[in-house]
Amino acid sequence: MVMELRYNPLIGEWVMVSSVRETRPWQPSNQCPFDEGNEETGTGWRFLILPNRFPMLTPNAPEAHKVDGFRARRSLGYCFVIVETPKHDLSDLHEIPLEDLTLVLRGVRDKMRELEEVSFIRYIYFFRNKGKEIGVSLTHPHSQMYALPYVPLRVRLELRNMRRYMKRTGKCLLCSVLEEEVKLSERVLYANSDYYVIKPYYSMWPYEVHVIPRRHVQKMTQLSDGELTTLADALRVTTAILDNVLVRDMPYIMALHQGPVKNDESYHMHVEFYPMLRDANKLKYAAGVEWGLWTFTYDSSPEDKARELKETCRKVSQSLKPMGSCA
Ligand SMILES: [Zn+2]
Ligand SMILES: [Zn+2]
Ligand SMILES: [Zn+2]
Repeated sequence: MVMELRYNPLIGEWVMVSSVRETRPWQPSNQCPFDEGNEETGTGWRFLILPNRFPMLTPNAPEAHKVDGFRARRSLGYCFVIVETPKHDLSDLHEIPLEDLTLVLRGVRDKMRELEEVSFIRYIYFFRNKGKEIGVSLTHPHSQMYALPYVPLRVRLELRNMRRYMKRTGKCLLCSVLEEEVKLSERVLYANSDYYVIKPYYSMWPYEVHVIPRRHVQKMTQLSDGELTTLADALRVTTAILDNVLVRDMPYIMALHQGPVKNDESYHMHVEFYPMLRDANKLKYAAGVEWGLWTFTYDSSPEDKARELKETCRKVSQSLKPMGSCA
């Protein structure tokens, strides 16, 4: 049995290795583990934060195997599943009432506050995978949270660039980006009192969308209850747009990029959505150029896609009744 973090010195990042996960049972489709009344879930809840039964990281991880010439360390951490609603058939976040989704986000924030106190936790990652195209076997609405013993590469890169920019200009990089996007307004899809939903100038995925707080804030644990209500609102608008922009469900990855547990004032948190389709029946693959180089190819223009997304925002907002307005 191997469960450890192995270091790739070429890119300077850890790989989570766990042979325990090989034995993960494939869920029979007629039986959902997240439904109310199961052994794991019980009854009378509006959302649940459950420990992942097959975690990549655990506080009682075994010692790492020592191999000459290589670095490995214990897979210390936590993995949680957040069951966002007892209702199995909701398609996405926008079908969860605002008040309920706000409660979920409060639960997540409060859990993060707890995890920040654990001595070996350096980073907390909140994310959501949706769609069978990206291997999600459970359709019951859920997201996940990993508490990591290191700061992951992508966040380290963002942090480095934000730090450098702040040193050079005295300003926050993302605050400046946001200022420019708002000035141009071409790629601004939606705004409420605390957040903008943007189709970034530098989008990598065809329908990529970012949710960015107006306030210069590093982490979800710094958000007030009010800022979680408006975040829930912005997330609902975003998934409603993604689910309606093409005539079908949109598979996507949602990633919360926040600063490390040890706070760095130069970071500005944001939520990135990577939708996996380029049109109704074509997947956008991260293939040779994208995976081999981490350089993305964009097959249309972000401005064209922004127009489509804006139009969809106006359409969905009629029934969604969001707190803010589509641009
Ligand atoms: Zn279910
Ligand atoms: Zn900022
Ligand atoms: Zn980011």
